[in-house]
Amino acid sequence: MENEGPGADDEFGFDDEDDDGLPVLIDCDECGKVMEPGLFDGDDPLLSVVPDPAAVYPEAPERNGTRLVMVCSSACFDAIHQRFRPPPPEEERWAVAIARAVWDHPGEDLTPQRMREVTGLSAPQVSAGAEYLRKRLEGEEGPPGGETPK
Ligand SMILES: [Zn+2]
Repeated sequence: MENEGPGADDEFGFDDEDDDGLPVLIDCDECGKVMEPGLFDGDDPLLSVVPDPAAVYPEAPERNGTRLVMVCSSACFDAIHQRFRPPPPEEERWAVAIARAVWDHPGEDLTPQRMREVTGLSAPQVSAGAEYLRKRLEGEEGPPGGETPK
């Protein structure tokens, strides 16, 4: 009987040599759409670096805090940069808290004391946040990027 021969090992298929020819499929880091590698010849506008504080590269420490991403379209490029943009400075968060307090207490006279109670910030934080807010309102660069207090 030939069933007992060395050929019985074939069912495991470990000697498949077609692996080398497999196309490398890349999926979009934003929407997950699978992209064809043929899209990426020459210089590649869809390969980008975003800030990512969680990224650590023991073998390339100069890349710590950044992450290489691939996206399928300029819309995803914009979206992923929006998602990975660096966190706002502390002053901006304090300023947003102050703005929110004013919104939440219309007509109320928010003294510094009351402002600290409402926002939970310390006095130096309130003054730093107020200063930041004042600079913004004076129109240096328009309102903080998309952070609308609710
Ligand atoms: Zn995409």
